[in-house]
Amino acid sequence: MSQTPTTTSRRELHARPDQEGQVTRLVIMGPQGAGKGTQAARLAEVFGIVPISTGDIFRANIAGKTELGQTAQEYTNKGELVPDEVTNAMVRDRLGQPDVKDGFILDGYPRNAAQVTELDQILADLGWELDGVIELTADRDELLARIAKRAEQEGREDDTEEAIARRLDIYAEQTAPLTSAYAERNLLVQVDGLGEIADVTERIVSSLATQLG
Ligand code: AMP
Repeated sequence: MSQTPTTTSRRELHARPDQEGQVTRLVIMGPQGAGKGTQAARLAEVFGIVPISTGDIFRANIAGKTELGQTAQEYTNKGELVPDEVTNAMVRDRLGQPDVKDGFILDGYPRNAAQVTELDQILADLGWELDGVIELTADRDELLARIAKRAEQEGREDDTEEAIARRLDIYAEQTAPLTSAYAERNLLVQVDGLGEIADVTERIVSSLATQLG
């Protein structure tokens, strides 16, 4: 990509400057190609929290040929969602690990209504609440162009044309509607994912600060 990532510290961004040391728990949503993974990593750095990508966990398990990986691969290759009971158990396990207690940003989960309910339950069991849900928006043509570029650069095995189209459809049908549930809870921040990587990060951080306090 022609975009140049720059390091943006929390101090530079004046992100929630009055809440230094506060535990931040975020979800980032957005269709494939919107820059979710990149922004999740940058926000993790800004807020000093752990990025948790369910897609990355599945890919690591597939590469490591674990039992979980073998199950997941059947679905990821087609662009279908891995069954909820598999994904939910994996997320529950990950959120229970010690490094997560200082905060996290979930990337790629929840992706359907049942997962929203499960995430609520996992967080309630841990005595936690979400601080914000970020939705990165971008139009389909822009997304397809970005994904084609990434597939060329990274050669991701699950990025076939059919799988990509299927993922975008599933996002529109199952994941995008979830944002209204979070909007009703006053947790949702919608940010345009188009533009320079650093600019998008700043937009997200300032929207979080103004909308969520
Ligand atoms: P991603 O990198 O987030 O696009 O995820 C890659 C693939 O992993 C998806 O196409 C799904 O097959 C699977 N996956 C990731 N997150 C989830 C989830 N929350 N629920 C079900 N499947 C998922």
